[in-house]
Amino acid sequence: MTDLAIAAVGTIKLPPDIRRHRRVREALASVKRLTDFIDGRVLGTSNDDGPVTQLYAWKKNVQPHADRTGFVYFAPLVIPRGGSLVCAEDASDVLLKVGGVYRLNDFITHGTYENGSVVCLFRGPYPAPNDSEALAEMQAGADRLAVAAPDQPRVSPGFRIVGRGECYASELHEDGRHSVLMSIAQAKREGMEIARCAHCGRRAVDLDHHYPWEQSGNRCERH
Ligand SMILES: [Zn+2]
Repeated sequence: MTDLAIAAVGTIKLPPDIRRHRRVREALASVKRLTDFIDGRVLGTSNDDGPVTQLYAWKKNVQPHADRTGFVYFAPLVIPRGGSLVCAEDASDVLLKVGGVYRLNDFITHGTYENGSVVCLFRGPYPAPNDSEALAEMQAGADRLAVAAPDQPRVSPGFRIVGRGECYASELHEDGRHSVLMSIAQAKREGMEIARCAHCGRRAVDLDHHYPWEQSGNRCERH
């Protein structure tokens, strides 16, 4: 039924102990940082270049809204105690299951009810439903999580947290200076400039809003 706002379209096999996976814990930590007033309750996805398999998360009780991007797929990895119910304007409500894959027409108003944060694999948007591709790609994403592949799914760049062995680094491109979150080893190997705390010079975990052009707001974990 492709005319429903929400539909269960299949299941994927998840790595064991997914709740403790580094990328899942990052998503949980990042969603806790969201300030309702500024950020809303959902960790955004980056999907300007077509469907990408990534992680996303939301805080409890997302108010009814429509994103208006197309058809998106999500597979819950972590659901809080008591469950999570996604409701839509057309009453095609679903009680989410870990490892289930759901297709959402996000033009139709939808919201959620639960007692805590939900973390999902996400893929989209598609201009039209493509269940078989989405299922295969999301299984491939789960498999990359299982082996912690370098290109394993992760929350979109603005929501990442600097982990052990990682840093923000920048390099000059034809169209300006770009900064990325990457492994310290790789940044050194590629001769990139590692972002430093403006107070003490340690690795920065919080960047100036205008980094890499401005570094005075860069801060390390201690500052
Ligand atoms: Zn510092």
